[in-house]
Amino acid sequence: MEVLYCIHKITADLKRYQEGNIFPEKCIVCQGELSPHDAQLCPFCLTDLDYTHYEKYLEASKVDKLFWGRVPVEQTYSHLFFKKGGSTQQILHELKYTFNGQVGRTFGEQIGHILKEKKEWSDVDLLVPVPIHPKKAFSRGYNQSVLIAEGISTSLGCPIQTLGLKKTRHTTSQTQKGRFLRWDNVNNNFSLTNNDDFNGKHIAFVDDVITTGATLESLIRLVLDKYPDIRISIISLAFAA
Ligand SMILES: [Zn+2]
Repeated sequence: MEVLYCIHKITADLKRYQEGNIFPEKCIVCQGELSPHDAQLCPFCLTDLDYTHYEKYLEASKVDKLFWGRVPVEQTYSHLFFKKGGSTQQILHELKYTFNGQVGRTFGEQIGHILKEKKEWSDVDLLVPVPIHPKKAFSRGYNQSVLIAEGISTSLGCPIQTLGLKKTRHTTSQTQKGRFLRWDNVNNNFSLTNNDDFNGKHIAFVDDVITTGATLESLIRLVLDKYPDIRISIISLAFAA
């Protein structure tokens, strides 16, 4: 009987394979079955995400204000609001812990499509993914910010560069520390080794989620120290408001 079941299952799988649908994929938010045309999300979840709609803002956004008085930033864009238990948390979890790197590219492409329509983003020369520690990249299989940058790059058409930035130290949990202690904690975690001259370029850092902004602040200080005439913008998939 079991053998018969196996034969039935293989036959069914083969039929689905011939139809180009071997593993019906599931929506990463509601787990509903996806049609072959959907990428990662069903149409309902796709329209129902916690979008920031920052591209429609004429005034400064909360992400812009986060960096005021800390480091000079040309412009920022965050795609989704992060709320505890919300759909953005599920998306970030999928991106970081389930080997589903494609979700990073899918959202990167969405972001790229939006920024392509905004003329203030048209002079970005390079996309710079925020580095993660090589050990973390190895266990995860990728740096999620690189995948987001890849998606943005296909729509926006500008290349990805690391500037020789590397994360040299694991960061301990930052949730229990105040802003200044946190900054101390991340300040010495990155190194910059590239000797090309990036002065005069407009670069956009790409990150998965912005919370306190401490990591980006530290990276921006490091980059500006070496290239004082570089202009820096920030793009993130999510913002924990
Ligand atoms: Zn769904």
